[in-house]
Amino acid sequence: MSSDIIRLLPDAVANQIAAGEVVQRPASAVKELLENAIDAGAENIKLIVKDAGRTLIQVIDDGKGMSSTDARMSFERHATSKIKNADDLFNLHTMGFRGEALASIAAVAQVEMRTKRRDDAVATCIIIEGSKVISQEPCAASDGTSISVKNLFFNVPARRNFLKSDAVEFRHILEEFERVALSHPYIGFSLYHNNAEIYRLEPGNAESFQGALRQRIVALFGNPYNQRLVPLQEITDIVRVSGFTCKPEFAKKTRGEQYFFLNNRFIKSSYLMHAVQASYEQLLPSDSFPSFFIFLEAPPSSIDVNIHPTKTEVKFEDERAVYAILRSGVKRALGQYNIAPTLDFEQEMSIEIPYKTPENPVSAPGIYVNPNYNPFHPSPETAPDVNRKSSFGSSSSFGKIPDNWQEMYATHMNTGGMHLPSDTVAPGLEEDFAEQQEIEHEQEKQHSGNIWQLHEKYILTPIKSGVLVIDQQRAHERVLFERFRQALESQHSASQQKLFPDTLEFSPAAAAVILSILEPLNEIGFDVRHFGSNTFVVHGVPAGTEHLESSSLLEGILQQYMENDQDLKSAPKENIARALARQASIKSGRKMETEEMRALIDELFGCEQPAYAPDGKPVFINFPIEELDKRFKR
Ligand code: ADP
Ligand code: MG
Repeated sequence: MSSDIIRLLPDAVANQIAAGEVVQRPASAVKELLENAIDAGAENIKLIVKDAGRTLIQVIDDGKGMSSTDARMSFERHATSKIKNADDLFNLHTMGFRGEALASIAAVAQVEMRTKRRDDAVATCIIIEGSKVISQEPCAASDGTSISVKNLFFNVPARRNFLKSDAVEFRHILEEFERVALSHPYIGFSLYHNNAEIYRLEPGNAESFQGALRQRIVALFGNPYNQRLVPLQEITDIVRVSGFTCKPEFAKKTRGEQYFFLNNRFIKSSYLMHAVQASYEQLLPSDSFPSFFIFLEAPPSSIDVNIHPTKTEVKFEDERAVYAILRSGVKRALGQYNIAPTLDFEQEMSIEIPYKTPENPVSAPGIYVNPNYNPFHPSPETAPDVNRKSSFGSSSSFGKIPDNWQEMYATHMNTGGMHLPSDTVAPGLEEDFAEQQEIEHEQEKQHSGNIWQLHEKYILTPIKSGVLVIDQQRAHERVLFERFRQALESQHSASQQKLFPDTLEFSPAAAAVILSILEPLNEIGFDVRHFGSNTFVVHGVPAGTEHLESSSLLEGILQQYMENDQDLKSAPKENIARALARQASIKSGRKMETEEMRALIDELFGCEQPAYAPDGKPVFINFPIEELDKRFKR
């Protein structure tokens, strides 16, 4: 008989395993440390980060500090001052309570803590590495606590290697910072990254929370927000709703700042997000999203308290009621704003109002259209650029387009051994392929006269075996994507210089990402230059996008770049090509002329992968005539 084999893990190992749950990346440590500082009653909190948190995360607070015994205890697992018994779990007023964060962080980093209570003469300094206390001694320090987390995951190479690029990791840190800063507008915060000051957020001085929140939003996301916000106030027994949503005209093309806080904690909820979106009903064009900063308060007993530290999802007892209250609350707020513009005297902001002067006469806005302009014909050298209305450049510069696309379609579908294109990602496409391949393919005859647009969204054209239904936006995205990608590869990007360069100011978070992709952006045809801190000057844009406003073009690319970066893990250049194609493409809902549609179809079938949009969704489907016959029970 062999001996018994079960044994207890040493504490250090147990801590390291537990740490995997609590500390997944630098941003998780940032969140925990910020929350501890808030729980300690800090009025000012400073976050210092180096190399997106890999090298250093330091949080300095002016909170209540710890005794030297507590300082040592705080690193023990399940050591907390915040709850004493199980009942306390249902009456929580602090951000943390599990007593796991510091133990977990100390298990996977080199941690130095200095802490001092106001009434103590000396501070305590503790150094811990991988759960091992290296030293503990009295030292000099100011009131409050400073914790430095150095070389995160130094003893867990697998974790360290798993981290994404600095841009992505820093983006996560910013997200946590922004969430905490938004929900605590009376606390001052500052953030430094690699010695540069990214944020300095003064403690709010407005009397109402709503007023302080407004100040905080403006400080975080910029002055223009002051005019965009619509205050919310809905008080019911089930839930109280406050905070802000934004005027419909400032909705963004991509999900931007959308925040829910439940009892002052950030939460995610696609269900509630839907409620907000629904309250805008007719006010928003499809696929645009309002910014919002919504605070919900509900009795803890009506919420399924998910005590997992990293989860942000929640479940309400009466979810449908919360949905309805939120929806009507937002609707009512929007209605009020429509009737009477909201006046808010709590914050004095100088708002620039353009006005009429003798030197600046107001002229009626006009629309100038060249009726003879055809975006699909190479414009003569002398054609004024202002008339370029389509994102199609002159096709001649991007290789010849076959006009026998119908044959190409047939051949394309006939190449039996087709496999998933490398730049598509959606799962489950193989089935579609099989289905497509079953279609019978004779040589297609030209049916050149017949092209229709359906619901300003689909292009219909007969082919010999049936009817081809093409999604106009996806088709154009595919065309542009291949064009931009090719331009990047051949390093021959066409750029359109701007007569008047645009100066754009971004949020610190966005600016950090732009800086990190400046080179590929300029390779693809932008001429964007960094103008210090968060300001960039756009001197040129990729040819074919000059009809778009550079600020929303860049903003859109940025947003999508970040989404792609997390979901697809594609190379930066390909990612930018994809994002740019999305931004510059003809959208659903745009009326297209026959010639334009024909040109698009030709270009599409000149592509390497006409069947799929860059995001992997199908570009067209074929309705075989037999299918129609079957439906008509012939
Ligand atoms: P929790 O926050 O869940 O209690 P932590 O591991 O985050 O667990 O912290 C353990 C304890 O250390 C806290 O309960 C608190 O008493 C103390 N502590 C942590 N950070 C600070 C700080 N910045 N200031 C004062 N006390 C702190
Ligand atoms: Mg904590």
